[in-house]
Amino acid sequence: MGQKCQFCGGKVVYPEQRLCDKHLARYVEKRVDKVLGKILGREEKRFLVAVSGGKDSMGLAHAMAKTDLQMELLHLDLGVPEVSAPVRQVVEGFARDRELKLHTVSLADHGFTLPDLHDHRRDFRSTTCSLCGSVKRYLFNSFAHEHGFDFVATAHNLDDMAAFAVMGLSCGDLQYASRMDYVSWPEPEHRMVGRIRPYFYVPEKASLVYALTQGVPFSEAACPYVTGNKQVAIKGAVAGVEGVAPGFKLHLTKLVKGHKEPSQTSPNQCQLCGYPTAVEVCRFCRIKQKLTDQVEQA
Ligand code: AMP
Ligand code: ZN
Ligand code: ZN
Repeated sequence: MGQKCQFCGGKVVYPEQRLCDKHLARYVEKRVDKVLGKILGREEKRFLVAVSGGKDSMGLAHAMAKTDLQMELLHLDLGVPEVSAPVRQVVEGFARDRELKLHTVSLADHGFTLPDLHDHRRDFRSTTCSLCGSVKRYLFNSFAHEHGFDFVATAHNLDDMAAFAVMGLSCGDLQYASRMDYVSWPEPEHRMVGRIRPYFYVPEKASLVYALTQGVPFSEAACPYVTGNKQVAIKGAVAGVEGVAPGFKLHLTKLVKGHKEPSQTSPNQCQLCGYPTAVEVCRFCRIKQKLTDQVEQA
């Protein structure tokens, strides 16, 4: 006989917490609500939910759409042949069905694509994932700022956060690791909108089963450039520790989140775009400048 839900005796869909589909939904949505509850006067705020088309962000958009928040969706089309177009269709179908306003921004509109970032990663002495992450963060913030949103919501989950914590600790860089939080507040004077991560304490498996049991459409397409990504390897190692010591991901994330180191620098304004940067020209503008030159020459 199968396991029974610890609350209602129903069929278990999430054995890690012995929950049926209804109580798993309650568990996930309660965690989402808890993060949203940190934002005072949230009914007056405008939220932009960044949806990649994957299980986490589509599930998060579904959960947030159940609240009374003012929210719209943003999808970045990264221009990966055979991957980006079908993913975009999933997001468009979801937005249409739920009558949610969807904004789509193509990297190509900025003169380059993810494959270009990959081809030129060595010019930046960086990895594809790091470059892609910088570009995404920049575009989430600039789009939200220019369209009057107060917060961008992303669907980083507990497994992402635990891996982030280990990454920071592995370089002995607590300053880096202590940046992780479920809310960062808007800094209008620096043209920075706020950031929320409502899935901060939602394990990846719970997010997957939530999306499946709620009938949320999502794409399972994997990024072709993820091979060799350090964060993916660390995620696997963290899952290994969790297997022998359940609760590890949660405790580690809480511990690192609780350790706050004050930021030592206040940001400059990028000389080209005006958004914050630690140097003279921000990473996005440097990437864009270099890639649009090289792509045009190719
Ligand atoms: P990742 O950096 O791929 O782990 O994604 C982290 C979060 O960023 C996701 O949960 C989404 O909220 C958001 N995100 C990632 N890729 C995209 C995309 N192409 N368009 C919009 N949001 C995205
Ligand atoms: Zn139940
Ligand atoms: Zn710039």
